Amino acid sequence: MKLQYAITLNEPRSVDAVAQQMSGSSRTAFTRTDVLTALGVLQGQERAGLALIYAKYTKDKGETRRAVEACAKVAVQLAGKLPVKERGKTQVIIAQGLARLAVAEFSRTADTPGAKCRCGGRGTVADEERLVELIVLASKPVDAPTKPCSRCRGTGLKPVPASRVYRAVAALAPALSERTFYRQWQGLYDQLLAWCYTQEDRAERGYSRLTREAA
Ligand SMILES: [Zn+2]
Repeated sequence: MKLQYAITLNEPRSVDAVAQQMSGSSRTAFTRTDVLTALGVLQGQERAGLALIYAKYTKDKGETRRAVEACAKVAVQLAGKLPVKERGKTQVIIAQGLARLAVAEFSRTADTPGAKCRCGGRGTVADEERLVELIVLASKPVDAPTKPCSRCRGTGLKPVPASRVYRAVAALAPALSERTFYRQWQGLYDQLLAWCYTQEDRAERGYSRLTREAA
């Protein structure tokens, strides 16, 4: 069972998805108890990553807050090492704001209003070139081949424009100019977003390891 489904194991509204996952993974013979045990261990080992995954797939407010707190801690630490003009309280406010925005961007799913990419959220588009090649080579009808969408790089989500991140941060620190933001702070935002994905990946890998051991 995928971690994104495992975390909803105790929620009645996800019964179908969970049942499907359970039957689909019957070969690996791990039980509901094994999954819950793995989640418990993971809670201790990969707290930030797990909170981020809850924030993304269940939109749980408490978990989202936990994810933001963990990200903000990293943001404040990194900001302290940046050669930025903003110091003290302003620096902390900007760093915390960037952490909230990074977690919000990370937590979007295809059903987040306005987030869906023009590929329809699938992350793939028809590969016209390859289709022509296949039609030429094959004598019978072929399935339309697809390739990763270049707009969203396969995520199915529109990237958040940097200008929107700037506007949100400028609302917290009005003295921050757009130029200064792009030159000095944009990099930190990208780092925080990358941190979110790294934490998610660590939690996913930890979960696979734990459920493999249980199987
Ligand atoms: Zn796309």
